[in-house]
Formats: sequence, C-alpha cells, structure tokens
Amino acid sequence: MTALVWFRRDLRLHDNPALSAAQAEHEQLIPVFCLDERLLAGAHRSIPRTAFMHGCLRELNDDLRALGSRLIVRSARPEVALPQLAEETGADTVLAAADVSPFARRRDRATAAALDERGVRLRLLPGCFAVDDLGPIMSGAGTPYTVFTPFYKRWLQAPRRTVYGAPRQLPVVPAEIESAALPEPLGAPPSSGFAPGEAAGRERMLQFVETGSQGYAQNHDLVAEHGTSGLSPYLHFGCVSARELESLLPDTDDAAAARRQLCWRDFYAHVLLHHPGNAHHEQQERLRRRIKWNRSMSLFDAWREGRTGYPLVDAGMRELAATGYMHNRSRLVVGSFLVKDMGIDWRWGERWFMRMLLDGDEANNNGNWQWIASVGVDPQPPSRRMFNPTLQQRRFDPDGRYVRLHVPELRNVPDEYLAEPWTMPDEIQRRSGCIIGKDYPAPVLDHAQARLEAIARYAEAVQREA
Ligand SMILES: Cc1cc2nc3c(=O)[nH]c(=O)nc-3n(C[C@H](O)[C@H](O)[C@H](O)COP(=O)(O)OP(=O)(O)OC[C@H]3O[C@@H](n4cnc5c(N)ncnc54)[C@H](O)[C@@H]3O)c2cc1C
Repeated sequence: MTALVWFRRDLRLHDNPALSAAQAEHEQLIPVFCLDERLLAGAHRSIPRTAFMHGCLRELNDDLRALGSRLIVRSARPEVALPQLAEETGADTVLAAADVSPFARRRDRATAAALDERGVRLRLLPGCFAVDDLGPIMSGAGTPYTVFTPFYKRWLQAPRRTVYGAPRQLPVVPAEIESAALPEPLGAPPSSGFAPGEAAGRERMLQFVETGSQGYAQNHDLVAEHGTSGLSPYLHFGCVSARELESLLPDTDDAAAARRQLCWRDFYAHVLLHHPGNAHHEQQERLRRRIKWNRSMSLFDAWREGRTGYPLVDAGMRELAATGYMHNRSRLVVGSFLVKDMGIDWRWGERWFMRMLLDGDEANNNGNWQWIASVGVDPQPPSRRMFNPTLQQRRFDPDGRYVRLHVPELRNVPDEYLAEPWTMPDEIQRRSGCIIGKDYPAPVLDHAQARLEAIARYAEAVQREA
C-alpha cells in the first residue's frame, strides 16, 4: 500500500516518526509538502523565515533524491492538494507530525475530513517536541499546567520514545507524479549565520552536544558570547529533532540547564494547545483587554528600527534586522522596553518578531511575549519583569562587544559611558565621533519615570471593568 508523508515543520530524515512509520508499514511512500498561502501570506508571513524554509525544502529534496525518492511540492491548501495526490497515487494513508497551534489543528481537521471523504486516513504521529504527547501532561488536579516549574518536574518524568535513524533507501516516486518547482530561497537577512537545512542543523546540534554546551549554565545570558546552541530556527522547522537533541545531551549541569530551556519550548506548546485563545488575548483574565496601551507609532518605529537611545535595546533590534535572530537576553530586554517602558501592546511586538525571526514560532513567541508583558501563564507582578536596560547592559554585555558590533556609531564611546551615552560630556562626544541627538539618538524616554507609569498602568487595569 501507498502512504503520503506530509512534511510540515519536520523537515528532516533523522528521527522522523512519520517517515519511519511510512517506511515500516507501506510498500510505497510519497513525500509531499504543500505551499499554503495562508501561512506564506497570512498574519505570520515573514520574508526571512520563508526564505529559510525554501532553503530547507531544497535540502530535503536533495537528501530524499540521494535515497532514491524526491519531494512532491503542491501549491495549494492541503485539504485540496492531499486528496488529489492520494487519488493520483492510490494512497490510503497520510502520515504527519502532530502540531499544536490553533491554525495547525484547524487545518488538520479540515484535511482529515477531506481525506476521509475519499476513504483516506490522516494519521498524526509525534515529531515536533521532546515529549511525544504534550496534551495529557496534567497537574495533580487534572488540569493543564500554567506554571513552569511543576510542569518541568512532571515533564522530566514523562516517557520518551526511541530515537529513529534516517532511512538508508526509499522507494522511487513514479516519474508521472508532478511537482511544482521549489521556490528560490530569496530574502534571507543580510548577515544571517544560519544556513538552512538538516545538514547545517545537525552539524550545529552535534557541535553543541559535544563541546558547545560546556559553560551553558554560566554563559547563556552573555549576549556577545556564542554561549547558546543557536538551534532555534532548526528546531522550529524540524531540521533537527527536539527528541534527538535531548537524547544526545550529556549528563552534566550545563546540559541540564539546556534541557530545561528545551522544556520551555514544550511548555509553551502545551499552553497553546490547551489555551488556543492565547493566540489573540491575554491569558490572565484579570488583565484581559483591560490594559490601556500607548498607540504611539513614533515610539514603535524607534523600537523597530533600533533608535531608542538605549544601546542594548537598539543592539538587539538591529541584530534582529541584520540576522533574523536575537539573543534571548536581548529579547527579554527589548520586550520589556516595548511593553513596560513604552506601554505598547505586546501583540505589536509579537507581530514584529513573527515577521523578522527565522525561529518565529507561534507557541514560543506568544508565550514569551505574554510572559514579559506579565499577562500570561507563570504569573508574576509586572514590576518583576521590568528590566532596566542600562543595568542589563552592564551585566550581560560588560565589555560592550555586542553593542559595538550592532550599533557601530557607539564603537568609539568609552566603556564608562557605553550604557548611558547621553551622559557623555560634549568633549568626549566629539572625540568619540558620537554626538548625541545627531550621530546617535537621545533616549526616547526616561526609564525611571516609565517604570512608575507602567506600574500605575497595570494597577489601573486590574481595577477597570472589562
Ligand atoms: C519576547 C520573546 C520572544 C521569543 N520568540 C521566540 C520564537 O518565536 N521562537 C523561539 O524558538 N523562541 C523564542 N523565544 C525564546 C528564546 O529567546 C529562543 O528560543 C532562543 O533565544 C533561541 O536561541 P538558542 O537556540 O541559542 O537557545 P538555547 O538557549 O540554546 O535553547 C535551546 C532551545 O530551547 C528552546 N528555548 C530556549 N529558551 C526558550 C524560551 N524562553 N521559550 C521557549 N523555548 C525556548 C529553543 O527551542 C532553543 O532553541 C522568545 C523569547 C522572548 C523573550
């Protein structure tokens, strides 16, 4: 019998449960990917991420060809494309990796129904997360988790499946089955260090588990160090398997700290699975639709373009534009600055990140934006997640390497002024070629004042009727 292996964001051959099941249980298998306009041009559209994905698809096709197969690409919604392809090939089963976002689940229901009308079954297998099934992980009270640490303890105990190898050979896909041309991977960010595809992802993963994770616990917050795995784009598109990555991590404290971060990924997937409404509104009812946001486009533009006058914020935003990536510590600082200091709706930041990030991922992005906005799961008082950008810079970019790399106009500013360049005496501004207000912006706001306003804004929201 024939199976279609429907690739979505599991663009790899290693540890791919859908591919392995198809190979074990079917004589013929047809790998397929649907270019779906709703994803490519919808609310979460992103030129850099799409370019990365096209690169991954090309690699996947090359890898499949090396094993005797090839990738069939269809430019249509899967609920239209897959029943058609099943008819063309006589397939009775479609295998895919289960996903959690509201869109993915709606799409899968529609596709399953369309396939069902033709007697074809859609079978969803694991493959996107470290733990196979995030749905049934429940607290003692039988409810989904909304606090990270108890989830983490339970997650550590959850069973793990065997890691699958890559197939050695695959059946030939008949020549008469047509495929749309694979799009050119155009629009990568100017300085992206992320080569798309499984080979580049695996190389990075193996380097991380062999040596790269050493020092992770101590260095992962230092923005100028390459102290983290840099695997997030590969995990998002499934060029590497979270399950395999976890299985390869050594038994060290550093690796345990990295494993805990991987758990955050599963946690936010668990949260979105059980709270699909979070995609649009605040998880916390007492704050839902009650915060009076600032709608200033000039502040938002200064944030997006890295012109706030706060060097760490500007460095993070410019890193994002140049590379399609931003260090986690910078994401926290720029997120706090947008939502707390500027008082701008977290959804504006969420949308901008989705447009720019190679790893842009609805569950992770939404969960983290709600976290930093103090409106989501794992609640804490708003002032606990309000970062002072000057202190954060001194702590996490102590020698200014990161700021100087991404904000070149500050390159010659002496260390003692780098976190607060507006305090430079005129003479030093002239000598370092950085006149505040001309070469580099004066701060768009005063952090101490903005902090008080943010506390008042949240306090007022709690009092307000919805
Ligand atoms: C406002 C904001 C938005 C974010 N948006 C995204 C997003 O769209 N996509 C995304 O993958 N991550 C997002 N993150 C989480 C985190 O910043 C990135 O996963 C991390 O920086 C990726 O770098 P790395 O692979 O080197 O991470 P490492 O430190 O090496 O961690 C390993 C893996 O663990 C996972 N991980 C680590 N931290 C987190 C976290 N806080 N939440 C969820 N998963 C985590 C990622 O898959 C990561 O690749 C966001 C964080 C913030 C504060």
